[in-house]
Amino acid sequence: MENGSEKLFLKINLNLNPIEEIKKRISFPNSEVKRIVFREKYGFFYRFTFATLFEYMGKKEDIINEIYIFNGKPVEGNLSEYTLVEGKGSEVKVPSLKNAYFCAKEDLKKRTQEKINIISRMLNSYFEKEKERIEKSFTYETKRFQESLSEIAEKLMEFAKKGDIEKIAEQKKLIDSAKRESNFIELEKDKLRAIQFESQKHLLNVENRLDKTTIIYYPVYAFTIDILKGKLTKSFAVEFDPVSNEIAGLICDSCSNRIKEVFLCNLGHAVCKKCLLFCESCGKEFCKKCLKNRCEICSKKICRNCSVRCFRCSKLVCKDHTKQDKLSKYFYCNSCLKRCERCGNLKDPFLFKVSKKTNAEICEECFRNEMQQNVLTGVFEE
Ligand SMILES: [Zn+2]
Ligand SMILES: [Zn+2]
Ligand SMILES: [Zn+2]
Ligand SMILES: [Zn+2]
Ligand SMILES: [Zn+2]
Ligand SMILES: [Zn+2]
Repeated sequence: MENGSEKLFLKINLNLNPIEEIKKRISFPNSEVKRIVFREKYGFFYRFTFATLFEYMGKKEDIINEIYIFNGKPVEGNLSEYTLVEGKGSEVKVPSLKNAYFCAKEDLKKRTQEKINIISRMLNSYFEKEKERIEKSFTYETKRFQESLSEIAEKLMEFAKKGDIEKIAEQKKLIDSAKRESNFIELEKDKLRAIQFESQKHLLNVENRLDKTTIIYYPVYAFTIDILKGKLTKSFAVEFDPVSNEIAGLICDSCSNRIKEVFLCNLGHAVCKKCLLFCESCGKEFCKKCLKNRCEICSKKICRNCSVRCFRCSKLVCKDHTKQDKLSKYFYCNSCLKRCERCGNLKDPFLFKVSKKTNAEICEECFRNEMQQNVLTGVFEE
C-alpha cells in the first residue's frame, strides 16, 4: 500500500432492533422458537480515494475517483442513506486491506482506461499531423536540392559544348558544395530527430495516487436461535449483515441451498420446504436423507421407525404389510405368514406342528389347545 495516504474511520449507526429484523427474515414453520440471543460484531467496507494525474502537451489534469470495496468486490457506493459518525481505529480490529486495495486498483484501471484511450487517440492524431508536416518540408528541401543540381548540370552541358574549361571547373565546384551542403544522410537523420521530438511532445503520462483510505464499519449481528419441536431441541448460529442484508448460517441439510423458511425433520435436520417429506406410514415429517426406505410390497416411502425387516424373506416392509407373531415376537411380511387351517389366523410359519388328531399342520396355539383337550379328555376317560 502506498505510504503517506490518509486513513479515516467512519462508523455507521444503525437504528434497528436486531431481534425484530431477524424475525422478519427467517421463520420456523414446524417448530417453536424458544430463545433468541445475539452479540454484535463488526462488518467492514472500504472507500479508496484515488487522484489520477493526466499529463500531456504541457497540460495537467487531476481526476478524483472514489472506489468502494465490499466483500472483495467493487460496489456502487452511496453513504448518504446511512447515519455516519466518526469512527475510532482503536475500537475495531480492521482486517487486512491488501486484497481490497488490490481490487480497488484494478477497478481504477478500468475506470481510467476510457479517458486514457480518448486522450491517446487525440494525441496520436496531433502527432500524425505534425509528422506529415515534417515529412512534407523535408521532401520540399530534397526536391529543391535536386532541382538546383539539374540546373547546374544543364549549365555544365552548355559549357562543355562551348568548351569553356574555366566555367566547367566552376560548375563542378558548385556541384560539390551543393552536395556538401545537402547531405542526404544528414537530412534523413534530421528528419527522424524532428519526428522523434514531436512524438515525445505528444506522449501521455498517467500517474495514480492513493489520497485517502476510509474504513467504514457497522454492526453485524451473530444470533443463537434455540428451537423446540416436540421433544427435539436444536440450536442455530445465524449471522445477519444489515448492510448486505444477507443472512449466513442457514443451509438446508439435504440440498445445501440457503434457507429462510427452516423446517425441522423429526430426526433434527434443518431443511427447506422442498426437502421436507412425510412418512407415508406414520405421517411424521422427515427430510430426504431420513426417508430413504420404501416398502417392498406397496412402495410407500417409510421412515426408519415404520420399516420392518421380515424374519423369513428379509424384505423391508411397512407396518401395514407386516405382522408380529404374538408368540415368537418375530416380524413377518404378509406373504411369509402362514394361515392356520384350524383357527384361520396368519401365524409364524416356523411354529407349525402336526396335529395328532388330523395330521394337518396347525399353529402353535391350536396345537397347545389340542394337547390340553387331549389331557382333559384323558382325565374324563379314566
Ligand atoms: Zn433442501
Ligand atoms: Zn413412519
Ligand atoms: Zn432428517
Ligand atoms: Zn407396505
Ligand atoms: Zn417375508
Ligand atoms: Zn391356529
